[in-house]
Amino acid sequence: PVAAATSPGASTPGTPASDDWGLTPGLPEEAYEHDGQITKREVRAVTLALLAPRPGELLWDVGGGSGSIGIEWLRAHESCRAVTVEPRADRAERITRNAATLGAPGLEVVVGRAPEALDGLPTPDAVFVGGGLTAPGLLDLCLAALRPGGRIVANAVTHETEALLLAAHRRHGGFLGRIAVERVGHIGGFTAWTPSRAITTWSATI
Ligand code: SAH
Repeated sequence: PVAAATSPGASTPGTPASDDWGLTPGLPEEAYEHDGQITKREVRAVTLALLAPRPGELLWDVGGGSGSIGIEWLRAHESCRAVTVEPRADRAERITRNAATLGAPGLEVVVGRAPEALDGLPTPDAVFVGGGLTAPGLLDLCLAALRPGGRIVANAVTHETEALLLAAHRRHGGFLGRIAVERVGHIGGFTAWTPSRAITTWSATI
């Protein structure tokens, strides 16, 4: 269902091509070109499960970073559509490259800052907020933009953004949880778990 890789680099040995990876969300970070701003695969897999893409649906991916959420949404069904908003031009270009390499060339990238940059975008079926949560009015605008029955998923790491999600959960219900990821690492000559900052995730059907 995923189109062949369109990027010329995709056939270069060692460069990930769209067909090197399965279609199940949670691709390893190595599948992407990134600068560290990328949702970890464990968190991404849960996030995509909560977003629950259906054929033909449109996602707003707010805070594109490396584009992984929008890209994995598009890989779920050929007819899915996604627009991602990212203020940093270098990241926006990286998102476009990742989308081409990973068989999601239809990802629309808006270079700008939410909420302003969301103005005039078509009504989404699902919204993911992975950046910009503290921008005044952002969460309310996303909730108001969703079609009835649409889904919102938002992830937070800081107390400031987490507080917004706790309040949103009190008001709108839905699912509220924390995801803590540990991976194997090293301490001197020994092997030990290396924890990442836990993510608070909220999702609701509006
Ligand atoms: N989900 C992404 C990672 C997001 S990192 C991935 O998996 O690749 C958060 C991103 O939000 C950063 O790239 C940052 O530039 C962006 N951001 C910060 N404030 C924003 C705003 N107001 N509107 C849109 N994006 C914003």
